[in-house]
Amino acid sequence: MGTGTSHGIPVIGCTCKVCTSKDSHDVRYRCSAYLCEPASIVIDTGPEFRMQALKFGIKSIDAVLITHSHADHLNGLDDIRVFSHTESVDPFPSKKTCATEGRGKPVFANSNTIADIKNRFDYVFTPVKEGGGKPKLDLIDCGMYGASNPILIKGIEIVPVPLLHGTLHDSGWLLTEKKSDGSRHSIAYLTDCSSVPEESVRLINENAGCLDHLVIDGLRVKPHSTHFSFEQAIDVAKKLSPERTWLTHLTHDMSHQDVSDYVKKIAGDSLAVSPAYDGLVLEA
Ligand SMILES: [Zn+2]
Ligand SMILES: [Zn+2]
Ligand SMILES: [Zn+2]
Repeated sequence: MGTGTSHGIPVIGCTCKVCTSKDSHDVRYRCSAYLCEPASIVIDTGPEFRMQALKFGIKSIDAVLITHSHADHLNGLDDIRVFSHTESVDPFPSKKTCATEGRGKPVFANSNTIADIKNRFDYVFTPVKEGGGKPKLDLIDCGMYGASNPILIKGIEIVPVPLLHGTLHDSGWLLTEKKSDGSRHSIAYLTDCSSVPEESVRLINENAGCLDHLVIDGLRVKPHSTHFSFEQAIDVAKKLSPERTWLTHLTHDMSHQDVSDYVKKIAGDSLAVSPAYDGLVLEA
């Protein structure tokens, strides 16, 4: 639902070739993804979450996965309230939870992200401020889940994938469906990151089955302290052997078409890689 870096594209006030492009692929909301079937799961609720939910027709949400607490991934969290008040289905009748907030929309994140959510959205968790438009959120520490005990939502196995975003520990997500023939098909969503630890590479390689799609942070050509460059993202992708690799969190440095041509050239024939774009639909 979004593939742009923290500014989004167009960047406010920028008149560069990409920000004024007529190609719809060059318009990028902040990073977010939506699994629509068989479970309804949103990954990251950035500042444009409401616009994304309207544009992509989200009618219900079973759970929310948050990669980390940077504003471009989290600050639209309040708009989950429309979903948290209209549904009563509990996808986790017997789940363990570290939360004390009571039943609400399940939001999975690592412990440092949960601490930041409680701080940034303090009114949500302050009992005296009742009434009005508060989302009901059930914050769940994803650290209690792993490959041997994945989060299970309507048949989708979800495993948090520890990543490093500069020095910040954040979470990528491995989503796996077991098909009727017994095969396992997965999508790995890895943003934001400047390093995928070896254990996380192993975690994906040992549990994905067929990794149909890898969506990975690939900011730009030039290296960056907290994000992969195109080349670094491609190097990691080659360790994971996905069927298709999609770069996300893109800047206005290059147009969609130019990124597409550039990454095909540097990846060579061994990896099918393309820039992602808003509205891209992946099937696994
Ligand atoms: Zn970001
Ligand atoms: Zn620009
Ligand atoms: Zn970030």
